[in-house]
Amino acid sequence: MKFCSFASGSDGNCYYIGTDTCGILIDAGISVKTIKKNLKQLGISLSSIYAVFVTHDHYDHIASVGTLGEVYNIPIYSTQAILEGINRCYKVSDKLYQSKHTQELGTTVNIANISITSFHVNHDSTQCVGYYIESEGNSLVIATDLGYINDEAIPFLLKSNNIVIEANYDEEMLLEGSYPLFLKKRILGNCGHLANHITARFLAENHQNHWKHIFFCHLSKENNSADAVLRMLSKQYETCGIKLEERPELTILPRTTPIDLCII
Ligand SMILES: [Zn+2]
Ligand SMILES: [Zn+2]
Repeated sequence: MKFCSFASGSDGNCYYIGTDTCGILIDAGISVKTIKKNLKQLGISLSSIYAVFVTHDHYDHIASVGTLGEVYNIPIYSTQAILEGINRCYKVSDKLYQSKHTQELGTTVNIANISITSFHVNHDSTQCVGYYIESEGNSLVIATDLGYINDEAIPFLLKSNNIVIEANYDEEMLLEGSYPLFLKKRILGNCGHLANHITARFLAENHQNHWKHIFFCHLSKENNSADAVLRMLSKQYETCGIKLEERPELTILPRTTPIDLCII
């Protein structure tokens, strides 16, 4: 299975997952032009994208979903509530009509040789889902934009070989930073975003030997840094006695630039 992050954070989110025969996108919160450019660099054309799966209806995840669906005829999958939420978003000019495909919560959709299962996560959008993706004996879970690690998400995180998980903010940086109080409260809340120490503690306390690669996503520009995430994680690994050689490969996903294609 191939994985690439094109963008990850409040300025836009888009992940590519593919096999030798086809590919899908998770979220399309960047322009079609940028998606095409990033795919081209991987030697992939937009016509080999068989579907887009949407986590939730915040604009940083849906900016070009309407265009991909209605102009490029790519099926757009999400829950009924999220699809309706996308069409209510005033910033999305291309609304979804014939490209809309409902995937109810907790069900699995098969796109060629990729199977995609959704699960509920807590966030202040109309609804928000994570995805568990399996292909060719490998798996990847995507858990972005969640206020806490909820019970529905945990089994998928535990069984997956590879994890994309939010590490949005360093608590101290957020509390001491310049954000207005209402925004700090939103981010800190149960329907906001995940703090570094929560993500790191979960990964260390629940360490699985089959975890191969962990990607940290949706880092805040103002309230986080790659260093802060990695420092917090190694602190938690030390506390839990996870030795260096037992730790999975770690990647911090950049906010606005693509990573190299990963074979996972
Ligand atoms: Zn977001
Ligand atoms: Zn969001």
